[in-house]
Amino acid sequence: MSVKKIFTIPDPILKKKSLPIKNVDSSVKKLMDDMLETMYAAPGIGLAAVQVGVLKRVVVIDLSKKEEKTPPLFFVNPEIISTSEEQVSYEEGCLSIPNQFAEIKRPKRCHVKYLDYNGKKKDLKADGLLATCIQHEIDHLNGILFIDYLSKLKKDLILKKVIKQKKEIDRVIV
Ligand code: ZN
Repeated sequence: MSVKKIFTIPDPILKKKSLPIKNVDSSVKKLMDDMLETMYAAPGIGLAAVQVGVLKRVVVIDLSKKEEKTPPLFFVNPEIISTSEEQVSYEEGCLSIPNQFAEIKRPKRCHVKYLDYNGKKKDLKADGLLATCIQHEIDHLNGILFIDYLSKLKKDLILKKVIKQKKEIDRVIV
């Protein structure tokens, strides 16, 4: 396994649509392993392949808490079948938009079908944080970021802040 570079805004790759996986072979498993390691290192609770520069419909999620470990979830070609009318808002962040957060409203529950790590057909009814996380990651596969739900003013402000942060990181004084 290896930790990959995470692409951040305004990299144009983040606006691209990812392509479906034909079969879950060893290269796809290797991608999922690398994504999981990258996500843990960041650290984050969800990661889409496009965030490590791979335009494939693959997502990893791990909502484990310190006191309660749960197994990581792997989603290949995830598709939302239905969502609840009831909505909930969470303060969302994104590894591709470092240090920026905004409250985003989404359906509280979603029913998703996908292939798992072994290429087996699965479906899952998610609620609360997991449902939000799945919707956030599937958005990535369609080139959508959480800031796309904000007003242009708020979105531009976040973009400016991230660009400024990047410049500060790049600056080296020797
Ligand atoms: Zn994200």
